Amino acid sequence: MTDASNPLLQPSELPYGLPDYSAIRPDHYLPAFRTAFDEHLREIARITMVRSMPTFENTIEAIERSGEMLDRVAHAFYTVSSADATPEIQAVDEQLAPLMAAHTDAIALDAALYWRVQQVHAQLADLDLDDEQRYLVERHHREMTHAGAGLDDDAKRRLTALNQQLSTLSTAFERNLLNDTNDLAVVFDSADELAGLSSGELSAASRSAAERGLDGKFLVSLPLFTGHPSLAQLRDRESRRRIMDASRARASRDNANDNGPVLREIARLRAERAAILGYDSHAAYVTADETARTPEAVERMLRELAAPSARNARAERDALRAIVDETEDTPFTVEAHDWAFYTEKVRTARYSIDTGALRPWFEAERVLQDGVFFAATQLYGVTFTERADLTAYHPGARVFEVHDADGTAVGLYVLDLYTRDSKRGGAWMNPLVSQSRLRGTLPVVVNNLNVALPGDGEPTLLTLDEVTTLFHEFGHALHGLFAVVTYPHFSGTNVFRDFVEFPSQVNEMWILWPEVLDNYARHHETGEPLDAAIVERLRATETFNQGHDTSEYLAAAWLDQAWHRGGPDAAIDDVAAFEAAALADIGLDDPAVPTRYSSTYFAHVFSGGYSAGYYSYIWSEVLDADTVDWFRENGGLTRENGDRFRARLLGVGGSKDPLDAYRDFRGRDAEIAPLLKRRGLDR
Ligand SMILES: [Zn+2]
Repeated sequence: MTDASNPLLQPSELPYGLPDYSAIRPDHYLPAFRTAFDEHLREIARITMVRSMPTFENTIEAIERSGEMLDRVAHAFYTVSSADATPEIQAVDEQLAPLMAAHTDAIALDAALYWRVQQVHAQLADLDLDDEQRYLVERHHREMTHAGAGLDDDAKRRLTALNQQLSTLSTAFERNLLNDTNDLAVVFDSADELAGLSSGELSAASRSAAERGLDGKFLVSLPLFTGHPSLAQLRDRESRRRIMDASRARASRDNANDNGPVLREIARLRAERAAILGYDSHAAYVTADETARTPEAVERMLRELAAPSARNARAERDALRAIVDETEDTPFTVEAHDWAFYTEKVRTARYSIDTGALRPWFEAERVLQDGVFFAATQLYGVTFTERADLTAYHPGARVFEVHDADGTAVGLYVLDLYTRDSKRGGAWMNPLVSQSRLRGTLPVVVNNLNVALPGDGEPTLLTLDEVTTLFHEFGHALHGLFAVVTYPHFSGTNVFRDFVEFPSQVNEMWILWPEVLDNYARHHETGEPLDAAIVERLRATETFNQGHDTSEYLAAAWLDQAWHRGGPDAAIDDVAAFEAAALADIGLDDPAVPTRYSSTYFAHVFSGGYSAGYYSYIWSEVLDADTVDWFRENGGLTRENGDRFRARLLGVGGSKDPLDAYRDFRGRDAEIAPLLKRRGLDR
């Protein structure tokens, strides 16, 4: 195959540079990546071979111009490898991972390039640059230093070797977890044992069993986190226990899938890498380049929240014990596998809300158009027009063109709502084209969810959780769409990890906002609005079970920190004992409230990008809760409020220090009180 015939290597002719997936075949990707890697290296070599002294233009801006072809290929590929990973795409992915790691290291550790960046950085005070350019110099210098570009050759060789080993270990962790999750899926002999599940869920379990050759039986597969959703419904205590035990045993047993040795080695190598880079621990290394700055700051925050969360969880357990005493013939102590089931009973008794019964009011198209889009139009004046003439990477991914109130084009929004075998679990946003004035590009962003396809002719009725997810992911999409930066390095969601969840969390505030809710939550057959009393009760349940939910999250966040606070010599032999000691240390060791992830299946941390960073979710929720208060104080859903949030926070992307951007928007630093109040931790 020649480069000339590879559609990935030419700029797309489609509007907004949307990749022309109709022309792209799976076997185009690897050759395109190889050509794009070479092209990127040539561009970098042209920068380092310049004979004149380093300047902002010939070095920093030139770096920003480089890698455009690689960005195009990578955006096109990673969109598909997450949302439509056919076996051919998976095969490309496996071959690509080490190539990508090597390419990234080659540029990040390039000594000649680093020298030029250092020279520009050293003259920064004397250069005539605007704020974004100045911050760009700071960031390039900081990121290359952080990656190890300033080390001597021996240290760099060791660093590169460590990065390779770590990437292999992460793959092993993921493979063990996937295998053990499949092995431990729980088989039930009769439907009686699964009493409480809906008929749809039962037939799905029966189909899953049949697919494994277990005709007549029922198979319950395990989600990533500890608590299985069906634990809230299953009436048989023994069935609940079996599912919970299987979930918590994942990749922990002394068998071929045991992740214990793998994660201990990962922790050790990360600590060694941190030491080479001049840090006491991996956590110190990671947080140094986040808004948190130090592991001590993270620890202070987690401890501040842990005590009231554990206290509230104990109070919640008392309520569960009371309902067990009341409803069961032989009372028993509430254990982890009982929590969700009796919590649903308390919820029903206290608020008479059956969350499942709300679905007829949450028809997907109505939620999207009259809820998600409507709120954005009210706040920012933007409108959404479906472009049925444009196809993205899959027929299920719909394309919308976004315009400002004055008709200016903003970008494209792609929504891929439904689940399919080739899509990974969860929900996310990713860019397909990043906004940049330098490159003359407008944004194309994608949202993915995993909503079950309805039967033929049936409407898609969402759960409240799915409505929340859609608003959340759309918040990330707005961050990408509203970017107005010059340099691609700063576009949209290219911000610190402990900041990136903030805009998406804020967008969730409109779900129950009266004008928005009233506009979208209409019964799909009768058009009736949700009963006001139900809405009131929904608002009242915000703090319900938050002691439990916050505790299980904080436990996982603390485990992540604990694994990464040690130095390279901190030998840890026993994973379970280490976990127990860490959780006891922070007072989150109630056996009825297990951690959201145990170490052996904590994929965010050992095979995903969240090592020493799982704290980020609650860290950014401080800003979120404080911002929600600001909107409330200033009249809520208005153009004026939206425009301020857009101009001072969403639009700047990563082009200034995020805490400066926050101060600019809020008029002061964030306060923690609104978060404590929201989660009921202030009482
Ligand atoms: Zn998010």
